[in-house]
Parts: sequence; structure tokens; C-alpha cells
Amino acid sequence: MISLKNIKKSFGTNEVLKGISLDVDKSEVVVIMGPSGSGKSTLLRCITLLEEINEGTLKIGDIEIKAETHSRKRGNEIRALRQRTGFVFQHFNLFPHKTALRNVMEGPLVVKKQTKEEATKIAMNLLHKVGLGDKVEMYPSSLSGGQQQRVAIARALAMEPLVMLYDEPTSALDPELVREVLQVMKNLAKEGMTMIVVSHEIGFARDVADRVIFMDEGHIIEEGTAEQIFGNPREQRTRRFLNSVDND
Ligand code: ADP
Ligand code: MG
Repeated sequence: MISLKNIKKSFGTNEVLKGISLDVDKSEVVVIMGPSGSGKSTLLRCITLLEEINEGTLKIGDIEIKAETHSRKRGNEIRALRQRTGFVFQHFNLFPHKTALRNVMEGPLVVKKQTKEEATKIAMNLLHKVGLGDKVEMYPSSLSGGQQQRVAIARALAMEPLVMLYDEPTSALDPELVREVLQVMKNLAKEGMTMIVVSHEIGFARDVADRVIFMDEGHIIEEGTAEQIFGNPREQRTRRFLNSVDND
């Protein structure tokens, strides 16, 4: 379903991704961990082509993009690929001047050209699904961080993505709000949503990850089941990192 082959990405002379290859199956949940600066966010941003890739091939569903041909001329294909991915950011990135409902409706109205009725119905359903059926008319500033992040998840789902990408979705939240966001993500995983999640929530990874990937300095240095990675990591760097994060 998703296939990355030898993806490389540099910013100036700083090579941040040094040849990442990764295949993710339909309904698979992959959790990516690794120290700050190891390239996790850049990898997610490359998967959704928020960043141009310098080398390699990226395939999502039926769309394949090769670095050599990745240019503005292929804007349609890039847009199509981007529409197959839902992105959830650390800092929610909601439209502050729109209600929760309007935030979720925006993509379907503007990009999918749905009617207002259709978009409203879908957005209402999704907001119910993330437990915010009673908050649809609220503005982001009057919602908690956990609620805002759940709106952001509903907004991404409204585009009916093939894969959901999460970049540290709970790391900006107060501890008591983390659980409600992880619960929504768990429910989605159970329903079979394909997900790539950058997160250091070990409990979450143990519960839902089919595979845990450990990145360091632009490489995938180790991957396996949560049990393998947390119970018996092969690499010294993985051990050191896991000792430094909270184990719950
Ligand atoms: P992580 O998410 O694992 O903390 P990032 O992917 O954010 O790592 O960053 C990896 C490296 O890429 C860092 O050295 C960072 O400074 C650099 N980097 C990320 N985005 C940019 C950018 N837009 N311009 C220049 N350097 C960047
Ligand atoms: Mg990051």
C-alpha cells in the first residue's frame, strides 16, 4: 500500500534522510521512534510531499513519485498523492477563526467539492466519532488541547485518506489529555486504518503497533514488533534511547 525506496532528503549540505526504505501494508500500524533530530518529521513530511525528496521512489496506493521527476510539472500527481494521506501535527494547526465543524468541513468543501449538506453530514459524523458531538460549534481557542487534536484527526479523516500520518500527536498535550487522543487513535487502528505514527508513547505502541521502527541520524537502524524493540532491542542506540523516555 505504501512503499518507500531509498528516500534521501537534504537541507543544503545537511543530509537528513540517508536512504529510507519502508513498506507499510493496508491496516498496518507503524510507530516510529528515535531521538530528536533523527529525521522523523522530515520522513513524514516527505511521505506526504510537504518536502521534496532528493532521491528515491515513493508510492502510495496507485500513485508513484520518483525523485528525478518530482517537479512542479507533476503538480496534479503530487496533489493526488497528498490527498491520499491525512496529516496530524504536534500543534494541531486548526483554523483559529473557524468552528470545529467548519474546520472539518473545509477540505471536503474546497478540495473534494462536496456540497455543504454532504460536508456537514460527514463532519458531524466524524466529530461524533472522536467524541466531540457536543462541541461542533466551538472555536479552537475554547477547546482543550486534547479536543483540538481530536478535531484535527476528524479533519484529516474527512478527506478519506488511505493512510494517516501523525507527528508526535500528543507531545504538546498536558498529561491528562494524552489518553483521550490516544484512545481515538486506537479506535481508528482497530477499525483498520493504516497509520504511521511518530510517538514516544510506549504504552500506545505496545497496544496497537504492528511494527516499531527506530530511527537515528537519518537511518532506520532497527525494526520489529513492540515486544522485540522494547523487550530486547538489538542496537545499543535503541537501548540508550528507550532508557531515556518514560516507560509506562
Ligand atoms: P525529528 O523529527 O526526528 O526531531 P526532523 O526531521 O525535524 O527530526 O529534523 C532532522 C534534521 O533536519 C534536523 O537537523 C533539522 O534541523 C533539519 N531540518 C528539518 N527541517 C528543516 C528545514 N525545513 N530546513 C532546514 N533544516 C531542516
Ligand atoms: Mg519531529
